[in-house]
Amino acid sequence: MRALRWYGPGDVQVEEVPRPAAGPDEVVVQVEVALTDGTDLKAYRRGHPLLLAEPPAPFGHEFCGVDVATGRRVVAANSAPCGECRACTRGDESLCEQLLPLLNGAYAEFLLVPERIARRNLLRVPDGLPSVVAALVEPLACCLHGVARADVRPGDDVAVLGAGPIGLMLCACVADAGGRPVLVGGRPERRELAADFGARPGDGAGSDVAIEATGTEHGWRDAAALVRPGGTVVLFSGLPSGTEVAFDAFRVHYEELTLRGAFHHTPATVRAALAFLASGAHPWKRLVTHEVGLEGVGALFDDPPRDYLKAAVRP
Ligand SMILES: [Zn+2]
Repeated sequence: MRALRWYGPGDVQVEEVPRPAAGPDEVVVQVEVALTDGTDLKAYRRGHPLLLAEPPAPFGHEFCGVDVATGRRVVAANSAPCGECRACTRGDESLCEQLLPLLNGAYAEFLLVPERIARRNLLRVPDGLPSVVAALVEPLACCLHGVARADVRPGDDVAVLGAGPIGLMLCACVADAGGRPVLVGGRPERRELAADFGARPGDGAGSDVAIEATGTEHGWRDAAALVRPGGTVVLFSGLPSGTEVAFDAFRVHYEELTLRGAFHHTPATVRAALAFLASGAHPWKRLVTHEVGLEGVGALFDDPPRDYLKAAVRP
């Protein structure tokens, strides 16, 4: 089969590799469509200690395809919690101590879904839901988890910093939770999409909650600077290990800010994300702006078009 493999920063190649064979309780999926995401773009450019450990590494983790054993359309998350470690047993499944290895290799004709993921986080796609929309399940599950961490109350003003596909999905999740999302930052053409995802553009000043999705240190600081006294800040985007971010101690102490991290997803948010996509509540397809074959992924990541949000990769 043909697969895209990562050899080093900025270096991917489409190669002929053996088609995966399913072991006991594993699932082989014929990939119908994979989606690019911001993590893949970062990993392509500078490598990734977990996703792209040893080159040549399989690449890509958002997908929808057909379970070759049953003929059913399926999606899966890129990990599943073990259910047995200390984090899992206290209910913090996103912090599972045995999340690795992560599923990777969706930029290929066929993909092997490991046993635990197949058991806990592989879902059948409802009839009528386009595959390209169903493939959004994993990032949307992360967004639902992030908004759950934000403890949004009905009527809360919630600033979402970062107008990429994650920021727009976070807005949809905030609106679904009863909050009033305000999309902060971004280019004019991105801000025009805010209404489609239940939000309005604004500066977010004085918000009850701020959710940061810019992937930058200044985004983290901006989020903590704009909430009202007593507000909650959810730091959603990951920064490189070792990054230190300075916050105004006066605000955190005298104004009783709550700073919380948010990472990954849980089986419950994965299931909820698929239902949210199938609900048709938002024009999810607008998040997928481009379409490429396996050969087109490298060029897309080298120089993303100005209007790019996510690309459908058709292997
Ligand atoms: Zn666990």
